[in-house]
Amino acid sequence: LHIIHIAVEMAPIAKVGGLGDVVTSLSRAIQDLNHNVDIILPKYDCMNLSNVKDFQFHQSYLWGRTEIKVWHGKVEGLSVYFLEPQNGFFSVGCVYGRANDGERFGFFCHAALEFLLQNGFNPDIIHCHDWSSAPVAWLFKEQYTHYGLSKARAVFTIHNLEFGAPLIGRAMTFADKATTVSPTYSKEVAGNPAIAPHLYKFHGIINGIDPDIWDPYNDNFIPVPYTSENVMEGKRAAKEALQKKLGLKTADLPLVGVITRLTHQKGIHLIKHAIWRTLERGGQVVLLGSAPDPRIQNDFVHLANQLHSSHNDRARLCLAYDEPLSHLIYAAADFILVPSIFEPCGLTQLTAMRYGSIPIVRKTGGLYDTVFDVDDDRDRAQAQDLEPNGFSFDGADVGGVEYALNRAISAWYDGREWFNKLCKTVMEQDWSWNRPALDYLELYHAARKLE
Ligand code: ADP
Repeated sequence: LHIIHIAVEMAPIAKVGGLGDVVTSLSRAIQDLNHNVDIILPKYDCMNLSNVKDFQFHQSYLWGRTEIKVWHGKVEGLSVYFLEPQNGFFSVGCVYGRANDGERFGFFCHAALEFLLQNGFNPDIIHCHDWSSAPVAWLFKEQYTHYGLSKARAVFTIHNLEFGAPLIGRAMTFADKATTVSPTYSKEVAGNPAIAPHLYKFHGIINGIDPDIWDPYNDNFIPVPYTSENVMEGKRAAKEALQKKLGLKTADLPLVGVITRLTHQKGIHLIKHAIWRTLERGGQVVLLGSAPDPRIQNDFVHLANQLHSSHNDRARLCLAYDEPLSHLIYAAADFILVPSIFEPCGLTQLTAMRYGSIPIVRKTGGLYDTVFDVDDDRDRAQAQDLEPNGFSFDGADVGGVEYALNRAISAWYDGREWFNKLCKTVMEQDWSWNRPALDYLELYHAARKLE
């Protein structure tokens, strides 16, 4: 098959959240199964082009009255076309955040289809993502299927229904197949008016992580490479390195890591409660979080100051987006906390497990589908041929998170041998794209068969 993704995020060159990770890692997994994949992306001024191999000018074309320069290069082994309209739409800022985002991305979607048409592309699948490339679905059906792109089918993936529901609803109407990023989230949103009429073509497929990009045996940001065979040695070295780097006490204490966008979705009040509770239990906490909302940012600056005076050797809040630091935290932490109020899939808990860190999660969306509580979920795990792999809780009050966190920290103190074995177990579970990529291929083939 020939699959073309039209997207506005792509890790690592233009990543804001999980969408960017998925575009890259799903594409790589499909390409590894011997299919052709191209990605079309806006050329943002802020992109770090040193991550793009063989970057070169490809062509320019006119769409409407705007000249669009096209560049081509390879990102993580994937062929990427970068569209640079000469109207300045992508020359300021990075990805989202301008007042005319809708107009800019709408323009990009149209320009991308025009590029495919003018260059005689004849793909099997055009895959678009979230509200930002949702217009591809209807522009394609309304304006392009009668021309050169007649063979293609449109697949639309919802990474987060919170943003741009009207656009998502319209794309759902026009897409041949639609997916969201976990089976449980697909059930949770089934009643939404944007989704409900289209359930017959709507599927929940869990995301994977790219095991080459997230690989503790081959990671420049951690001190000792490790596999499940020497997981405790690798994690001990990473913990010490993290403690030294952040000026925390270098001691073997239970370390809870949080790596997140700081938004209400991510369960901010639960995160705060867990920080204090962990400190009460004698543990350490490292939070890496970026807050797009200045009020939330201020709130956490305040908390950081408070912790600085009361627990300077055991708590550190890093209020930034920092990819290298995230690697070190994944490796160093004993636990990674993900108490989201809702979570379409969540990649953090999967990455945590790849690094032998134990997830503590709220039972929602993809967190429910991938984390199985060591005390409560043995049967559900076994039904999937898995061993239990973490701690989880229901409810959105602080009692829930406390219930899970307490059990986790007690397990760490009381049963080190048991805990070390759990780290090895989670590392050996396969949360890569191996299985989900096959589900996507099946979906692509089913879409191709539609009239
Ligand atoms: P979402 O897309 O809702 O933010 P996901 O769990 O799907 O949540 O994906 C989040 C991704 O972004 C993960 O790869 C995580 O490691 C990364 N991430 C989140 N916050 C930060 C941060 N402050 N610094 C570095 N990486 C981060």
